[in-house]
Amino acid sequence: MKANEFHALSTALESLTPHQKRRLIKHLHELEHIQAVNLLIEHRLLAVSSCPHCHHPHFTRWGSASGLQRYRCAECHATFNALTGTPLSHLRHKEKWLEYTQQLVDGRSVRKSADACGVHRNTTFRWRHRFLMLPNTQKASTLAGIAEADETHSFSSHSKVKSKV
Ligand SMILES: [Zn+2]
Repeated sequence: MKANEFHALSTALESLTPHQKRRLIKHLHELEHIQAVNLLIEHRLLAVSSCPHCHHPHFTRWGSASGLQRYRCAECHATFNALTGTPLSHLRHKEKWLEYTQQLVDGRSVRKSADACGVHRNTTFRWRHRFLMLPNTQKASTLAGIAEADETHSFSSHSKVKSKV
């Protein structure tokens, strides 16, 4: 965002109602969670080393979508991101993953973690299945990594329990 646009936005914030302010703060927290998850996925957990479609090692950056870097394969021309071909692709509500993985690491039930994250239990049921489908080599680091990132977010309201993975 350009400096003058940011200034206009800051000025506009002064006329927010208390309800709008709370909604905006919640939205900012969600954006921050999504950014933290994306950073973690791209730089520490699922770094891209080849095309997930044809395994060709050469690819170029190709814009971004949903906050994740996209790549284009030099061989088959398919586009992909760090989640493509992993059990975590196409899962929604990424802003809740930090909180959910902590629930999973703590061994909470599908129902309890759904309540804690504010999503339907069908969602946490699906998440549980997908996160546990990660290859063993990635599972521990992914769960611990995401849960650990959650602990660094001071705005999270839920109580923190040390990672057991
Ligand atoms: Zn390819």
